[in-house]
Amino acid sequence: MGEPCDLLVRGATLVTAGGLVRADIAASGGRIVEIGPDLGPGARETIDATGLHVLPGIIDSHVHFNEPGRTEWEGIETGSSSLAAGGGTAFFDMPLNSLPPVTNAASLALKRAAAERTSRTDFAIWGGLVPGNVDDLEPMRDAGAIGFKSFMCGSGVEEFERADPATLRAGMKRAAALGMLVAVHAEDEDLARLRTAEARARGTDARTWLTSRPVELELAAIRTAVDMAGETGCSLHIVHVSSPDGVALAREARARGVDVSIETCPHYLLLNEDDVVARGAPAKCFPPLRPEALRLGLWNALESGRIDTVGSDHSPAPPEMKRSSNFFEIWGGISGCQHGFGLLLSEALARQAPGVALPRLSGLLSANVARRFRIDRTKGRLAVGLDADMTIIEIGPEHALSNAELLYRHRQGPYDGRRSRVRIDRTIVRGSTVFSQGRVALGGPAGQFIRPA
Ligand SMILES: [Zn+2]
Repeated sequence: MGEPCDLLVRGATLVTAGGLVRADIAASGGRIVEIGPDLGPGARETIDATGLHVLPGIIDSHVHFNEPGRTEWEGIETGSSSLAAGGGTAFFDMPLNSLPPVTNAASLALKRAAAERTSRTDFAIWGGLVPGNVDDLEPMRDAGAIGFKSFMCGSGVEEFERADPATLRAGMKRAAALGMLVAVHAEDEDLARLRTAEARARGTDARTWLTSRPVELELAAIRTAVDMAGETGCSLHIVHVSSPDGVALAREARARGVDVSIETCPHYLLLNEDDVVARGAPAKCFPPLRPEALRLGLWNALESGRIDTVGSDHSPAPPEMKRSSNFFEIWGGISGCQHGFGLLLSEALARQAPGVALPRLSGLLSANVARRFRIDRTKGRLAVGLDADMTIIEIGPEHALSNAELLYRHRQGPYDGRRSRVRIDRTIVRGSTVFSQGRVALGGPAGQFIRPA
């Protein structure tokens, strides 16, 4: 290196697909320009990362930041700040809960403009697949949508309708022709109605609510979705798979040649149904948290390489929507994009050696996401030529997480008091520090829109 580079990260342990490697990273113009031992002679900014681990920047492929239209629920500025504090360098925002929902190119452009104003991290935007909008899929693709999201059961907001089977089939067919991926929230509508009616007749508490969304809903919907993807030749992504049986069904379909990928979320790996009862509203989500045996089964699926990606499904709501004496009436959604990833890394380290746990989980949080969503020419790995996106963590003694440190618009979350060995030391987006020493950097460059190749 003759010229000094913009940024030099020295002395760290890099988390790569091949294992842990001691090396320095040099970046210029927002990209990684060199990786190797003892890089020099100097740089405009040098970060001493001795004793720390550097992961490729975490890409959260599943958040609801609710802007425009419901910024009082979260908003892109607080959402992306929280994500950066949790180690995230990019997010994919879901089409619903913002108003208008993203179901055409015009609403996508509105969200893009909002994010370009206030996002601390890079971002992509999901389009929605809803009844009546199949002809909007192509314009949304052309506007840069990362994929099309649909619900196989009610979504929780009336302006984003469930994709009935005819809509889902037509949407998958069109998406396949457009070379785009369809994501599904996989819970069966008929079973959801039936089990909910049965449960409501028995009571209104959390334990009773749990019986309204058993695993059979997920399995029925996954069967339908993978069959339809097979028929139409569509690439399918199943979001927030909550059970090992759900993973197995999708893997069987993949073995038959269906192009299907499997996402799960930190909360299904960190919490179980007893936490819904003990912690209440902050731990309510759809599909619900599962019994302990299923949580452990999901870890086995992850550690044997059968899960593709992990996204937070950060889904906040104002406190008044998280309060009711009737558990059925409480908003279903976990706020988790700040605490979830660090805690998940800590839990993985409690189960396996760092050289196994970190590369595996990092792959699910970065490289696999980038590859599946075709942004791997610029993101997902620590490699020369790619964006200098880095999540720097310290693995140390256990400390307790607190909701008081949350940067969400509403400091709600299910991890208050949980102990973690992982602390997010610094988050770097395209060579610029967006979070360090517990603070989000002010006045940095704005986040950039990411579109699939
Ligand atoms: Zn979601």
